[in-house]
Amino acid sequence: MIIETQISKYYLWTVGCQMNKADSEKLAAGFDRIGLKATDRMERADLVVVNTCSVRQHAEDRAYSKLGRVRELKQARPGLKVAVMGCMVGLKTDDLHKRFPQVDVFARPQQYEPIMELVEGKAEDLGGEFWPSTYAIPEGPTAYVPVVHGCNKFCTYCIVPYRRGREKSRPLDEVVREVAYLALHGVREVTLLGQTVEAYGHDLAEQPDLGDLMRELSAIDRLDRIRFLTSYPKDMTHRILQAVTELPKVMECFSLPVQAGSDAVLDSMRRGYSVAEYLEKIAEVRALMPNAGITTDIIVGYPGETDADFMATCDILRELRFDKVHVAAYSPRPGTIAFKKMEDDVPATVKAARLHAVEELEEGISQEINDRYVGTVQQILIEGVRNEQPFGRTRTGKLVHLDLPARIGTLVDVSIERAGPFSLRGAVRDSVVLV
Ligand code: SAM
Ligand code: SF4
Repeated sequence: MIIETQISKYYLWTVGCQMNKADSEKLAAGFDRIGLKATDRMERADLVVVNTCSVRQHAEDRAYSKLGRVRELKQARPGLKVAVMGCMVGLKTDDLHKRFPQVDVFARPQQYEPIMELVEGKAEDLGGEFWPSTYAIPEGPTAYVPVVHGCNKFCTYCIVPYRRGREKSRPLDEVVREVAYLALHGVREVTLLGQTVEAYGHDLAEQPDLGDLMRELSAIDRLDRIRFLTSYPKDMTHRILQAVTELPKVMECFSLPVQAGSDAVLDSMRRGYSVAEYLEKIAEVRALMPNAGITTDIIVGYPGETDADFMATCDILRELRFDKVHVAAYSPRPGTIAFKKMEDDVPATVKAARLHAVEELEEGISQEINDRYVGTVQQILIEGVRNEQPFGRTRTGKLVHLDLPARIGTLVDVSIERAGPFSLRGAVRDSVVLV
């Protein structure tokens, strides 16, 4: 379908999580279907789309800086069309509209229609099956596939439920069709995405769970691996864990945010679990899959976090020994419960020191864990080539760089020869070419 339009080239800029990246890929696939071409030079575009993130101030600042450049461009070329999409756009974001009057369209996450309307003047032509049957164009052997949108949890610090709305699962057959399409077009590994990926299916008539979805996806030819994120301790049921254990294509790779190691902080965050319950969940995962890769997220400097609370977080990191920790300093988000009810009382210098301490502690732990990979043979899916060196991941999610050539999209057995805290290095032992 080619649409008659003045717009022929678009520039799409994205910041934020995997879900935002997936949203951008879907929009790009929609543009492709109506005949628009992408450009990586903003100056050459007829349409600029800025896909924003609001989870922390830093991400917003990056979008503001981009929008400042777009404003200059639009002053020079008033015919340029500009759309802002993503988590910075919400019901109460008038300030953003006032600050950037040159933006033609503001669209909430996954609200693609107003952007299409900007392109072709009448969005109704693209209704019905257009978006459900628009799949991201694979850029390599791995792809993100959102399976449940939104979040119902309302952790006090988090803006996501306000901007992405309540949980909404995609129909199981729609996800299966998309993954089959991706597999047919060279994708070997999919990452199933949800803010709480285990919430998948609760709102569907048949109430399948994530395990049921993984079973269906496992039957797809040419698909070799299935990942899933982000996990929520309370929603990760034994039934789902059984499916992960039993299904050979599902990777032993978990992203299971704990956020804090103190019950007082977890309670204040309204995370809905205690430290003891989190420990139990990890014990259950490790009992079923002793070699599972497990990463976590931590927020330091949450309102009221004392030195003792912070020490408790460090203790849990020492005890649980995660493969990787994503640590962030608390960033007050207007509109959230914490913003309204709690004082941002941990000084910036203390937040920075705690962040640094977690990074330093984790670097040592990650190094020790990775050292244990040296001398083992790991199955790697070759994802790409950087600086003339192929790279890919183990089934546990470890990044591995290879010294010798290997074809993108192949599964290879690699002898791990060296380890750093953030990646491994190895040489191909054997290669299975999957065509
Ligand atoms: N749903 C996942 C969970 O339950 O943790 C994570 C989704 S959240 C968008 C991604 C990460 O951003 C969180 O794990 C948290 O560590 C971080 N984050 C969210 N809000 C934040 C805030 N106000 N300040 C600092 N970090 C924040
Ligand atoms: Fe945000 Fe909590 Fe939902 Fe994760 S579970 S997206 S942290 S509200």
